[in-house]
Amino acid sequence: MTLSDAPLDAHDQEQALLRAVEDRFPTTIARLAGLVRIPSVSWDAFDRVHVRRSAERTAELLRETGVFDSVDIDGVETADGYAGQPAVIATRAAEPGQPTVLLYAHHDVQPQGSADDWRTPPFEPTLRDGRLYGRGASDDKAGVMTHIAAVEALSAATSGRPKIGISVFIEGEEENGSRSFADFLEKHMAALGADAIIVADSDNPSTTVPGLTVSLRGNVTMKVTVRTLGHASHSGMLGGAVPDAMLATVRLLDSLWDEHGAVAVSGLGSRADGPSGGDEADVRRDAELLEGVATIGTGTVHDRLWNQPAITITGIDAPSVDEASNTLLPAVSVRLSARIAPGDDAARAFEAIERHLREHAPFGAHIEITQPDLGQPFLVDTAGPAVGLMKTAMEDGWGAQPTETGIGGSIPFIAALAEVYPEAEILVTGVEDPATMAHSPNESQDLGVLRRAISAEALFLHRFARPDADIR
Ligand SMILES: [Zn+2]
Repeated sequence: MTLSDAPLDAHDQEQALLRAVEDRFPTTIARLAGLVRIPSVSWDAFDRVHVRRSAERTAELLRETGVFDSVDIDGVETADGYAGQPAVIATRAAEPGQPTVLLYAHHDVQPQGSADDWRTPPFEPTLRDGRLYGRGASDDKAGVMTHIAAVEALSAATSGRPKIGISVFIEGEEENGSRSFADFLEKHMAALGADAIIVADSDNPSTTVPGLTVSLRGNVTMKVTVRTLGHASHSGMLGGAVPDAMLATVRLLDSLWDEHGAVAVSGLGSRADGPSGGDEADVRRDAELLEGVATIGTGTVHDRLWNQPAITITGIDAPSVDEASNTLLPAVSVRLSARIAPGDDAARAFEAIERHLREHAPFGAHIEITQPDLGQPFLVDTAGPAVGLMKTAMEDGWGAQPTETGIGGSIPFIAALAEVYPEAEILVTGVEDPATMAHSPNESQDLGVLRRAISAEALFLHRFARPDADIR
């Protein structure tokens, strides 16, 4: 055996791994920029050809790592006829006795929104003050590149022969509700089975402190239609004697919150022992709360955002102001969108909201509830060995202690993953920071965060291998 063939010891391997992250980082940024140029919006009204192109480019990058046994693109059709957007799936078998990790991210993006609000065009990646700007530059194409770059670094440190099994699932419709996710999982159940699952699609508390997301709220949405009259009537003839649907709707909706703006629906749970704290000034700044406008809810900021339910009316069907005539409306519909607390159950929460609406129907108004959409909340079991391994890898990759965080938003497929793979530990990491502006104009990725996130994930992958008995 010549010296150059001699296997590196674990410490040298980690040094080689971190060097590989460093050396390849300019390439990683260039590849991320290339992905951002593809406007892979997964919403129904957008051309699917771009999502297909971004799947193909992602598959190409995964193949170029040289470590996967197979890399494929697939989309599945659901029972109700929805054609799933193309996802990328790659697998490498584990050596005997070694564990397998599943790496998840998504390559589709949100629409750009109003073009005027962007300082630079959304699909022309632009580097400014250490951040890469563009739609998807962070959410979640930086997540995609984190996985690819971490696998490349692992490969460099192990002479192209990592011991662990690695599966990759890069979804193509996360921003469109992951509608074929369950069917996709069912079809690829065997390929995606793993001991640990890294979901790189979340947030960090700052650009220097890594976050491990351990709680996510669920969501419950529905269409609520309120009816009081068989037909529209002249408000001068009957106004004041019969309730129009708008009056009933306004009073019904008002009953959903107490005087502080906290949710007043009994039967919706809160999490008592969740992460607390948070700074109200951050909320004011992030929301650009207008002068003199108060925040709502009770408890600490993190309590309100992570541990308690929230209800928002996100749409209303009624005549527009310009088209309004002096008419009593017979029916009004609204979209009700609720975030539910970790530990609560989406079906139970839906029932609680439905019961509340029926019990509070003013003047005996008729309430119709349709189009329910439920997503389960999720709590990570933080006692497992992979969680401990990830925290140490984050500390070493970032040079800072990680914080356990919650998020106010929902990633319903995480609960679905946990249901299909109950044995797997789920690690929700991410590349976002408070300035990322995911889903908004001027979304950007902090490049320091990206480098640290790749280092942390590469270290985790390396340490995830079980030490083998027969070292030659
Ligand atoms: Zn995302």
